[in-house]
Amino acid sequence: MTFQDLELIEPISKALTEEGYTTPTPIQSKAIPLILQQRDLLGCAQTGTGKTAAFAIPILQLLTNSPINKSERSRIRTLILTPTRELAIQIGESFAAYGRHTGIKHTVIFGGVGQKPQTDALRSGVDVLIATPGRLLDLINQGFIKLNQLEIFVLDEADRMLDMGFVHDVKKVIKLLPAKRQSLFFSATMPPAIMVLADTILTNPAKVEV
Ligand code: AMP
Repeated sequence: MTFQDLELIEPISKALTEEGYTTPTPIQSKAIPLILQQRDLLGCAQTGTGKTAAFAIPILQLLTNSPINKSERSRIRTLILTPTRELAIQIGESFAAYGRHTGIKHTVIFGGVGQKPQTDALRSGVDVLIATPGRLLDLINQGFIKLNQLEIFVLDEADRMLDMGFVHDVKKVIKLLPAKRQSLFFSATMPPAIMVLADTILTNPAKVEV
């Protein structure tokens, strides 16, 4: 399979060519069509498999294909929740790379640094917010972020999220999301506690394993 078979829009396929990507990885060829069909997804995949592009590429395509009007510019359309600052930065770099010709805006927020640059970025309007749980809840509680109009939610590295003790924070965030949304859930392992959490987030998910 090639990226051409995935019927990606030109601004994205152009960016992938510039990145030197020719062939989708297994998780990408399985997950991209399902996400483009707006299915919920339960993905069992480790870092290094191309997991980030497997969700970033179709999310960029869905958002580009359903533009919102200017008056709604401050609305966050996609939230990606990830356990660490390093992962958040990496995901941000992926959106920057694959989305560079789309006009879709993203920002990254995480704890341990001043919040002013992050709240400034939020004020300027972002489509995609990539966040670690603690700082996200902080900024929600201060009124800088509203998730009530979210379209797509991604929980990345769910097993690590649980191991790091973020389960309560994650559950608090999920309570703030609209019921009608697309949810993507990724975990390297699927122990019972993860399956229970996945059940509370996903609706009739397609399952992808690599
Ligand atoms: P990830 O599993 O998302 O952390 O990605 C692992 C690495 O593989 C990243 O450095 C990506 O830039 C790279 N990568 C992801 N998908 C592809 C692809 N289809 N072709 C070549 N490199 C890729």
